[in-house]
Amino acid sequence: MVGSFEMIVYSWCQTPMINVTVYNEFIHEISEEACKVIYPDGIHTTIKNFLEKDSTIGKIRCATLKDHKETLSQEILDDTDVLIWWGHMGHDDVDDAVVARVTQRVLNGMGFVVLHSGHASKPFKTLMGTNTHLLRWRDAGEKVRIWNIAKNHPICQGLDETFVVPKDETYGEPFAIPEPDKLIFISWFQGGEVFRSGACWIRGEGKIFYFQSGHETFPVYHQKEVQLVITNAVKWACPVQRICPVDRGVGNDPPFEK
Ligand code: ZN
Repeated sequence: MVGSFEMIVYSWCQTPMINVTVYNEFIHEISEEACKVIYPDGIHTTIKNFLEKDSTIGKIRCATLKDHKETLSQEILDDTDVLIWWGHMGHDDVDDAVVARVTQRVLNGMGFVVLHSGHASKPFKTLMGTNTHLLRWRDAGEKVRIWNIAKNHPICQGLDETFVVPKDETYGEPFAIPEPDKLIFISWFQGGEVFRSGACWIRGEGKIFYFQSGHETFPVYHQKEVQLVITNAVKWACPVQRICPVDRGVGNDPPFEK
């Protein structure tokens, strides 16, 4: 039963250029003036624009809630090395079949970078297995100091030991995530809260990074340190090779000649 061990391999070599898909629900930027002024073409376009400047990043596609059933198709996900996810108001409207496709692709090796209120998104909750929507929060435009506590980690390359985001939404512990495989950032907020603001997990073959920064009414994704974190995270989360394994079934034959 040699055939039962076949794999569909899209690339055996190290992925030459990183294909990124940026999902942003794109609701606040249409409905709220304060957000429209900062992100006139949507948060996804701002993220795409700074990622484009990096020579290791290849195809960048965008997906929004309105078109996500098509723009997060199996074919597109199979050609995506890293998926970035920003969502908030529209979590419940994300199609369950899309959630299943995304989570399965992550288990098969696609990187997944989850931003800000994406902590409560269906794919992140599914992959974490805990009530990741639970945390303290306050929309008060407070100063945030982000501490880089893993300075030898790829996501921290080029960052100082600490940097400030002048205004962002306050998030605070307790945050109901599973214990991270690696904690990258801890943030202090002006109101006194602390928060595990950058954390990594492995699920199946896929690397996952959650990053707290990025409330929609503050220009956080225009800040160079935040852009560097997301760019570094894309490079870290990228799979070494893009493989989609086929279900092997339950055969007992060895995968090679005896
Ligand atoms: Zn927010």
